[in-house]
Amino acid sequence: MLDLHCSHQTLCDSLALSKKMATKTSSLMERSITTVINTFHQHSRKEGNDDTLSKKEFKEMVKTDLATFLKKEKRNERLINDIFEDLDTNQDNQLSFEECMMLMAKLVFACHEKLHENNPRGHDHSHGKGCGK
Ligand SMILES: [Zn+2]
Repeated sequence: MLDLHCSHQTLCDSLALSKKMATKTSSLMERSITTVINTFHQHSRKEGNDDTLSKKEFKEMVKTDLATFLKKEKRNERLINDIFEDLDTNQDNQLSFEECMMLMAKLVFACHEKLHENNPRGHDHSHGKGCGK
């Protein structure tokens, strides 16, 4: 079991150690969380600090891995810059894992809202076709 109070690095190490087991036994939700972490690392490792996203790395992540959810932002450099500056709460011009996860939380909420468009929440909790469009 993961120690939820451990640092990001320790969390990543324990995920790496249990990778073989994880791919075989993890639930879809657990695998989705692992995918978010792995995708962050794919980009954060490219330049500078291995565990933070530079503006360039963040732009690449938005363009390649959030292309559908952030369709409008993808084509607009200024919007991506605004999002980056919003997320960079300590203003060091890098996004830590924690800072970047604020975007993931916003996307999860926005996606759920989108799913409920034309499907008001009621007794029959139903979701629409998808989100991101
Ligand atoms: Zn719902």
